[in-house]
Amino acid sequence: MGKPGDKGQDASMDCDIAVIGAGPAGLSFARALAGSGLHVVLVERASEASLADPAFDGREIALTHRSQDILRDLDAWDRIPPAEMSPLRQARVQDGVSPFVLDFSPPGETPLGMLVPNHLIRRAIYDAVRDADCATLLTGVAVTAVETSPRGGLLKLADGRQIRARLVVAADTRFSEARRQMGIATRMRDFGKSMLVARVAHEKPHDGIATEWFGHGQTVAMLPLQGAVSSIVLTLPARQIEALMQASPDAFGADATRRTDGRWGAMQLAGTRHAYPLVATYAQRFVGTRFALVGDAAVGMHPVTAHGFNFGLAGASRLAEEIRASQARRRDIADPGGLLRYELAHRRATWPLFTATNAIASLYTDDRAPARLVRGAVLRLGAALAPARRLVTAQLMEARAG
Ligand SMILES: Cc1cc2nc3c(=O)[nH]c(=O)nc-3n(C[C@H](O)[C@H](O)[C@H](O)COP(=O)(O)OP(=O)(O)OC[C@H]3O[C@@H](n4cnc5c(N)ncnc54)[C@H](O)[C@@H]3O)c2cc1C
Repeated sequence: MGKPGDKGQDASMDCDIAVIGAGPAGLSFARALAGSGLHVVLVERASEASLADPAFDGREIALTHRSQDILRDLDAWDRIPPAEMSPLRQARVQDGVSPFVLDFSPPGETPLGMLVPNHLIRRAIYDAVRDADCATLLTGVAVTAVETSPRGGLLKLADGRQIRARLVVAADTRFSEARRQMGIATRMRDFGKSMLVARVAHEKPHDGIATEWFGHGQTVAMLPLQGAVSSIVLTLPARQIEALMQASPDAFGADATRRTDGRWGAMQLAGTRHAYPLVATYAQRFVGTRFALVGDAAVGMHPVTAHGFNFGLAGASRLAEEIRASQARRRDIADPGGLLRYELAHRRATWPLFTATNAIASLYTDDRAPARLVRGAVLRLGAALAPARRLVTAQLMEARAG
């Protein structure tokens, strides 16, 4: 088994599991199989340098307690510098100038979750895969074709190489080409907006409180980082996002101060800006013959409820567990029963929040009068319903069962 970065010299290669995409989901899945004895090959179109030392991409990932546990098991958690983690002590949702605030507070001192920059999560998982020596990594080359049959799977790479595998796993983004080639239909929801994320320094403290604020014509979220710095997340039509991407740093800071009504005092841009289109996707099947989807390729969440990678990580570890269980029963690692159990469990875990998230995102980005009335009512009701709030808080703080 080769280390990340080893290049296969042969025109074709045989392995047990071929994974398309070494993003956080693909890498987590490979690391979750460490010690299984299976030969895993990861194929990634990006360069090895960009995996070993990924650039900051603006995403601050809110990791649930369960995800933190899984990352510990994968030997990735302790590789993230504690100074780069920011505890999420409380979350608030507010609509326009309405005085009703939906408040999510943990019952004790334990934070709701931990905010960690995405590029540091990716680097930590990459290092964990390298040190465990659990996969051969082919970088700088894209998979161009995928086919599977009951006898096996075949990947064709852009440089002419081929990989034969007993199981093919696609972790190749929410716009997965492999999924399309395997004929798996996907629900797609284009919200017609884009999201801009950037770090801003501000005068007033944030007290570890995340704020989601639905002003008319815009959605602003402030995610509390170390010191008087937050990640500002702006949801706006693509044209406005483009203008903010191009604005001078001073103009951007002034615009952010105005959009947040000066609640955090004057703001200054404190890093690079990144824009993402808002498209949610949900594959109609997560598995096929000797084939499975993980990460965003299975479930591409709208980021508003901060669950995309939390689901990706849970799914990757669930699929690895099913494969180990098939091995333990001396069954084929692509045993259809095992794949189906993964599909059912992952669907059960993700579908309710996927649909709820899309409903929330639609309601809160719609500025027509009926939607404004409904969300005002939802907030008032939510503010009055302590048990419902406790339920949401418990879900955020959910630890791994068993
Ligand atoms: C602004 C923003 C904020 C977010 N906040 C949160 C949050 O708070 N909490 C949370 O849980 N999630 C959050 N997410 C979601 C999270 O970032 C994603 O769920 C996660 O990055 C998906 O990982 P992945 O490995 O499935 O896909 P990706 O990160 O997209 O990686 C896919 C990899 O596949 C490779 N690839 C693609 N096609 C090919 C091919 N043909 N051949 C070879 N390689 C290929 C790509 O190069 C890439 O490296 C957020 C997302 C955004 C945009």
